Amino acid sequence: MSADRKVVIIGSGPAGWTAALYAARANLEPLVFEGEPPNTPGGQLMITSDVENFPGFPDGVLGPELMEKFKAQAERFGTEVKSQNVDKVDFSARPFKVESRGETVTAEAVIIATGANAKLLHVDKEAALMASGGGVSACATCDGAFFKDRETVVIGGGDTAMEEANFLTRYCTKVTIVHRREEFRASRIMVERAQNNPKIHWELNHTLDAYLVEEAGIGPLKREQVVGVRLKHTGTGATKELKTDGVFIAIGHKPNTDLFKGQLDLDDVGYITPRPGKAATNIDGVFACGDVQDSFYRQAITAAGTGCMAAIEAERWLEEQGL
Ligand code: NDP
Repeated sequence: MSADRKVVIIGSGPAGWTAALYAARANLEPLVFEGEPPNTPGGQLMITSDVENFPGFPDGVLGPELMEKFKAQAERFGTEVKSQNVDKVDFSARPFKVESRGETVTAEAVIIATGANAKLLHVDKEAALMASGGGVSACATCDGAFFKDRETVVIGGGDTAMEEANFLTRYCTKVTIVHRREEFRASRIMVERAQNNPKIHWELNHTLDAYLVEEAGIGPLKREQVVGVRLKHTGTGATKELKTDGVFIAIGHKPNTDLFKGQLDLDDVGYITPRPGKAATNIDGVFACGDVQDSFYRQAITAAGTGCMAAIEAERWLEEQGL
């Protein structure tokens, strides 16, 4: 049975659009399911403001603007886009089945680029402060440089929190790690490195209870800016305020792989585990790229790079199959 599509791509962040661009330019006429709410078409950069570390943009670029350009470039070469979520996949036989809104599309090859989401605290104002550059971020590598000579808070007690706090001390005068327990999930060496850093302060047994904000900017640029946080003691419930210019949430990520459980090899946390050095997964013809298979780098540029790998591997695989 011949398939409806040579390549279906699920997901529309930097990885998905780069895979689409390469697949389209290879005449594979890819179909991209870009997703719809509650998912975020365009991915994590849609909830970011300034992106200063994507090469080719010396003056920086807004996250949503960058993703529009990715999409436009993929569409220019004939990528078809459906603004729908994929509800179900069946990789048990070829052609593969991809189901959305009750309709099934069959595909010779599938590229998965469904990304991961930073876990958030869901404290009031958080989403708006993240989207507007109001001082809340889930990525120190991306946003640390905006806090030169400022004070910041890092939430979490894992390796990411320790690493981000250490990284932030390159820019910040003071970094306070706020963690809900006294014990750390982070490895001892990472905790010790943070403990030995004189710029790092600690608020253990505390959670973030509220963002304290002030109005900043003028006219249409008016927005709320973090000026502090209210912390709550996990034992006594006592609250206190801490002055800070920014908050970095480092409480882990969740890869978007619920669709693929039981069909693809995943690690303990749920990340897809492609074959070493490749985008190819344990199922021939299914490829994975971007943050859905990367718990380590998590950058737009690395996601785009693996999107390119996935498309090139898919193209070669289709050719080998005589498709
Ligand atoms: P982890 O899951 O390891 O740690 C998450 C931390 O956030 C925990 O301390 C947890 O607290 C805390 N947390 C979770 N939810 C909340 C919440 N709602 N409110 C407050 N605190 C919360 O995630 P990481 O991102 O730190 O690490 C992920 C993986 O990546 C790990 O395997 C880690 O080792 C690895 N990694 C390795 C690095 C390295 O080796 N250089 C660098 C970065 C990551 P609690 O402990 O109480 O559950």
